[in-house]
Amino acid sequence: MRAKGAEMPGKDCVKVAVRVRPFNKRERDAGSHCIISMASSTITIQDPRNSQSPRSFCFDYAYWSHSGFTRDRSGLYVPEEPGGRYADQGSVFQDLGEGILENALQGYNATLLAYGQTGSGKSYSMVGYGPNKGLVPTLCDRLFQAIRANQDSRQCQVFFSMLEIYNEQVVDLLSRGSRSPGGLRVREEQQRGFYVEGLRRVPCDSAPQVEQLMEQGTRIRTTATTHMNANSSRSHMLIIFQLKQIFSKESITKQSNINLVDLAGSERQRVSGSEADRLKEGTAINLSLTTLGNVISALADVAVGKKVVHIPYRDSVLTKLLQSALGGNSRTVMIAALSPADICYEESISTLRYAERAKRIQNRAVVNESPTERLVKELKAENARLLQRLSRLGQEGRRAEDETKELRRLLTHNELQIRAIQTLWEQHLQEALKDWEQQYATITQERRMMQMHPYILNINEDTQLSGVVKLFIQEGEWDIGLSDSSPRSISVRGLGIQERHAVFINVQRRVYLTPLAGSKVIVNGTPISQKTELQHLDRLILGSNSTYLFIGYPSERGGDDWSRYDYDYFQSELAAAEGIHLHSLCDSSAVPSQTDPSLLAVFYDYIKLMPMVAEANQMSQELHKGVEFKLEIKNLALSDSKGHDLEKDITVRVTSLENKQVWLWSKAKFVNRKFLMEELYQQHHMEQKREGAARAPMPRDRDPFWDPLEPLLLGSAHLWLQSLAFRIALEEQLEVLGSEGTEEAILQAQLLPCSPTGLTLGEDDILIDPSELLGRRLDFQLVLDQCCGLRWVKQARNRGVQIGFRMFDSAQPLYTPAVWHNVNPLLDQRVHFTSLHTSQGLLEHLQTSALVLELWGLQGK
Ligand code: ADP
Ligand code: MG
Repeated sequence: MRAKGAEMPGKDCVKVAVRVRPFNKRERDAGSHCIISMASSTITIQDPRNSQSPRSFCFDYAYWSHSGFTRDRSGLYVPEEPGGRYADQGSVFQDLGEGILENALQGYNATLLAYGQTGSGKSYSMVGYGPNKGLVPTLCDRLFQAIRANQDSRQCQVFFSMLEIYNEQVVDLLSRGSRSPGGLRVREEQQRGFYVEGLRRVPCDSAPQVEQLMEQGTRIRTTATTHMNANSSRSHMLIIFQLKQIFSKESITKQSNINLVDLAGSERQRVSGSEADRLKEGTAINLSLTTLGNVISALADVAVGKKVVHIPYRDSVLTKLLQSALGGNSRTVMIAALSPADICYEESISTLRYAERAKRIQNRAVVNESPTERLVKELKAENARLLQRLSRLGQEGRRAEDETKELRRLLTHNELQIRAIQTLWEQHLQEALKDWEQQYATITQERRMMQMHPYILNINEDTQLSGVVKLFIQEGEWDIGLSDSSPRSISVRGLGIQERHAVFINVQRRVYLTPLAGSKVIVNGTPISQKTELQHLDRLILGSNSTYLFIGYPSERGGDDWSRYDYDYFQSELAAAEGIHLHSLCDSSAVPSQTDPSLLAVFYDYIKLMPMVAEANQMSQELHKGVEFKLEIKNLALSDSKGHDLEKDITVRVTSLENKQVWLWSKAKFVNRKFLMEELYQQHHMEQKREGAARAPMPRDRDPFWDPLEPLLLGSAHLWLQSLAFRIALEEQLEVLGSEGTEEAILQAQLLPCSPTGLTLGEDDILIDPSELLGRRLDFQLVLDQCCGLRWVKQARNRGVQIGFRMFDSAQPLYTPAVWHNVNPLLDQRVHFTSLHTSQGLLEHLQTSALVLELWGLQGK
């Protein structure tokens, strides 16, 4: 379905399109429901927890790419039936791409932004996958077609650039060698506005050439200097086409820039309190994306006539570079990509709100033309005049040496200028072509190698970056590691990879892998320490988290489908080796298709965090932080007074190795902290490169590896209250269970019905019918005698504990005094409770619920 909204004549509003993709594997596994519907250019989203209030938004275009499609023989996704509602790549290009192309040819700047959460389909729309080419490659095809078609009327020059903004640093994706630490600089000039200094601009004259450059760029993006796993969810990719058209007849030059921006994932970082403050102090998770939001909001306010003092373009690299695209001289299109699934509701609605603001922005696009050609003509005419005067001077034979000299100087100067204007492009193109031929040769060679040798293929969390690195294992012995010093070494980067990490041996068409001392190598989920033969499609993890698929000799390959070995597959396999299966989280009788969606979410969180935890541990080790991270699946049900056992959540346990201090971090907190750790780690590496420069030790409240000590919930025990309803005394030895089912301690507790003055009631006071309590006064005492076998204190003696509990409807929990350094501490606590008037609610509570006794761990003394 392609629906076109009403045109607004005379105004250059940012055009906004929304597109909803098919369910992905995770969403299908979880039995997700589609909460998006479309009619014409209106999109409606349903809050899954509230069937009352669907929200509708109207955009310029709405693309239904969720259902109603099939895959044709060439792998293209097309509508199931002709004229079906499915919007394929072609129809998106027709609406958005054509316009951009047309604009650019007319001399306008044009900008296309893809916005949306990670995995929502930004890159699919922008770049595309395989035969389903996205906007950029199709635009490129059509651009060169148009150039050829218009050859007679104008001469065209196209320059291509590709860059990445990661953490406010600009990386040139077209130049491998000269990567300066800290990235390229963004400068400002009166005429040009903001630009990236020294960015490589490659002159191009064909679409295949641009495609090769993009392939090259993606490869650099994947293997960039950062020691982390490349991940487009936090970086923006910018592709810039500069188009220069010289109309010789009209003596006019038109110049236009096409900016194509695949933005970082828009997902919100949900943090609050002190964590949010800490992030503000460091770098914001994605300053560029936040600032883009602020700029868009400000511009949207301007458009509706609100008074806006300041538009914060200068606050981030991305907004500096997009200044003319936003509220300036450009025709701009935003495509907002959406997941259809109910579990993504929060993100999707936030994307729609963002897109709605963007829709209001008004630009003032003008044709960028300059009379360059006229200048050439004028220079030529002037030279003709100069020559005439020279010859006249000669004829007249007057002594005019000075004048002759001056005329000759002018003549040369002008000629040089003309030549500069005319030949620069030719030269550029020649050089670029030579360069490109080399690259092309490399790529052809790579294709040949793939047909001859086994190789390993990078598998990345981001599908767009998967499979771009191929490392060939030819016959003989090959070192693999950071080092590239010998001709027999294969160089790989990555966290936890050693100079010499492992050895590949390829003999008699068999390939073996041997890890070298102290290095981590995992094959199909299991760590190996000895020479291991590899089979076609084995999964390798080198160091903390560099994942590769092994591709055997061509004879072993057959027609198998490799696509199922994606990043999730690697991580699930690893989790399985640790004993974490999807079905082990659930009731063992459950069939996968009936899996509880919340457990699925926990499982996917687990496999998502697992590699991040491995990376955090490696960083901690290298930076000598002395802390260790471990993933835990926590049973939330522990604090449920009904004892329900359903909800689970992921936490990260952080332990300091020296004094065994422990922190428990939520998922969100860990993800944020990991980002700050990466920043610290990269700074550290940059400083190491600059040699020496000792740093002042980091203040603890800024150190992402550290936190102030807090009491830790170790576990809980349930003391059922039912006996109180009958006024029967109860004495129990309660097992205090930790979140993973461990026995943390035994707690001796009593519930004693008593008189208002605290005298224990006897057998005569036992009730046959609890309803007799209704409306009457109830007194009882909770006695906590002793804790035995405290695991927490056994592990480290500098610790203590405290018991916390909350009775019925009391707001504040009560705590026993802290007891320290003792594995079997006496508590000797007696608490008297009184209800002057026993209500139905209280009685029901006594009959059905338990008092949750929480065991809190104290540390630091
Ligand atoms: P993003 O760039 O937003 O993180 P991607 O574009 O990489 O997300 O999409 C994630 C996955 O969803 C990819 O495997 C991609 O093939 C698939 N996908 C996205 N949009 C579509 C679509 N319109 N049709 C089919 N598959 C899609
Ligand atoms: Mg992407």
